[in-house]
Amino acid sequence: MGDSITLLPDHIANQIAAGEVIQRPASAVKELMENAIDAGASEIRVFINDAGKSLVQVIDNGKGMSETDARICFERHATSKIKNIEDLFQIRTMGFRGEALASIAGVAEVELKTRLQGTPLGTYVELENSVVRTCEPVATPEGTSIAMKNLFFNIPARRNFLKSNPSELRHIVEEFIRISMSFPGIFFSLSSNGQEVYHLEKGSLKQRLIQILGNGYQSNLVSVREETDYLNIYGFVGKPDTAKKTRGDQYFFVNNRFIKSAYLNHAVMHAFTDLIPKDSFPLYALFIELDPSRLDINVHPTKQEIKFEDEKIIYAFVQAAVKHALAQYSVTPTLDFDLDATIQQSDAVSKPFTAEKQYSATSSSLYRTFTQKNQAHFIDTRSNLDPFQPEGNVEKILTGKFGFPQPGSGPAPSGALSSAAQLPRLNPETPVTQLHKTYLAVETPGGFLVIHQQNAHERILYERYAHALKGKPIPIQRSLFPATLETSPADAVLIQELLEDFHQLGYQVEPFGKNTFVIQGTPSDITEENQKGSLEKIVEQYKHFNMDGGFSKREKLLRSMAIQRAVRAGTPLSQKEMQVLVEDLLACESPATTPNGKPVFLEFKKEELDKMFGR
Ligand code: ADP
Ligand code: MG
Repeated sequence: MGDSITLLPDHIANQIAAGEVIQRPASAVKELMENAIDAGASEIRVFINDAGKSLVQVIDNGKGMSETDARICFERHATSKIKNIEDLFQIRTMGFRGEALASIAGVAEVELKTRLQGTPLGTYVELENSVVRTCEPVATPEGTSIAMKNLFFNIPARRNFLKSNPSELRHIVEEFIRISMSFPGIFFSLSSNGQEVYHLEKGSLKQRLIQILGNGYQSNLVSVREETDYLNIYGFVGKPDTAKKTRGDQYFFVNNRFIKSAYLNHAVMHAFTDLIPKDSFPLYALFIELDPSRLDINVHPTKQEIKFEDEKIIYAFVQAAVKHALAQYSVTPTLDFDLDATIQQSDAVSKPFTAEKQYSATSSSLYRTFTQKNQAHFIDTRSNLDPFQPEGNVEKILTGKFGFPQPGSGPAPSGALSSAAQLPRLNPETPVTQLHKTYLAVETPGGFLVIHQQNAHERILYERYAHALKGKPIPIQRSLFPATLETSPADAVLIQELLEDFHQLGYQVEPFGKNTFVIQGTPSDITEENQKGSLEKIVEQYKHFNMDGGFSKREKLLRSMAIQRAVRAGTPLSQKEMQVLVEDLLACESPATTPNGKPVFLEFKKEELDKMFGR
């Protein structure tokens, strides 16, 4: 057959290359911000419309460009940052390949206004499909403004590939945070659809972190700083008791460039072993500085992975530095003048997280949760209990785990585990026994039940809250001394959306200036000193669900509250508390599983047990 190879026309080759650099609006935000930093700007403003799909604009007060540079900067391989191959090994700027602007010009419409410092007039350049359409003098402030409009207008397939606005905006915020975190000496702002989302004044790294992560970290950051001939590390880790359920705030920077490294993350996590509960994540923002020649510069600049010459040394170093910081902090907490009183008294740092500690944290409000009469119990609906449908595989997992034969796995005893088609009627006076501070054993007419107290409480609270959202709200107890909740801008947006539902669920939360809320009231079983913590935990859990997606806002909130407010396994309960718990469970519409499908109880039949004992 005939020849089949043709050379791609330039503009198509360009578009393909461009797509690797500019994958989404956030890539342009990153490239343009980095260029502004490289240009020595002390103030950088980012404007986004339509999650960056219609506009990404970055305005800086950096050194600006001459008219010639302004024309040429959109050419592929146009860079002022390296001149020869040796330069590559000492690269200190954020960019150096001369690809970003060429790529942006290949996939969007671009407008550039720039004025070289100390010159009277600036230059205006307009491009479409990588071609300069306009180039003329313009009056403009010193520095550079680059606007990228209608991303992928010329590549509909890619445009369709973009995610929803909230999702693209999240990527943008992520890039913005990573960059602004590593340059606290530069003023940054980010505005979305005309509204300023971040306004970050120049300051110390600590101040920058607090501006980004929320004022709650004011007294919760431990400084890390070690210097050697080979490399330096500095930054902050969160105090162990601020570790969260979501991985969110963990940042590594190498020579001020954000990187992802599962390996180095492991080093930090290792330093936190025994200080934080399993499955929780400490905050960290750590900056490693080393001779650029010890890094593999051939790793593409838009990629976040990085290759070190000797990874193991860096691992050991990071781990030691974090351990050292944590040890110093816990031995000499009074040296940290920012430390607030409650933290000073807590032994969360010097002692590992234990069941006892968990108990003391949850017990105070627990008794009241169970006994208070103004809670929306469903006791009256018990008479028409629905038979429930246990989740198909739950029983199978359990029979396996408990060593009982699988149903239908042989002729021999079918197992002591009943299929529990219906929760048996119980006399509320039946005594309940707690085992391992986790399981409640209750005699039933035909055998006994083993109930997991935390799972049961999750189910009870979930139904109680669902009921409250539909009808009668949970009563609010006004706070005598309303606490304020300061959050990151991202969390503030999230809480704002939930205010109404919160109100229905017993939390009266009111916006109070930027990223701050006042907690005017909470459900009556929450003590004043726990108001803030309780709300923060719910929001944290909610974010956890947010990452998985799938549920409606309300459903996520219901589940978050049920999980966060449920009594923990490991908590001793009084006879009265256990009986109320069992009673409340009996009143549930679907008592068999937690909202997330974990089993709540197992029923053991006496006759099956008798058989197993040969009686
Ligand atoms: P690189 O950053 O890899 O050099 P870019 O395509 O990002 O490549 O930018 C090309 C060149 O344009 C830069 O090297 C720089 O000289 C110039 N430039 C880009 N943005 C700015 C800016 N905001 N201020 C001044 N010069 C800039
Ligand atoms: Mg660049």
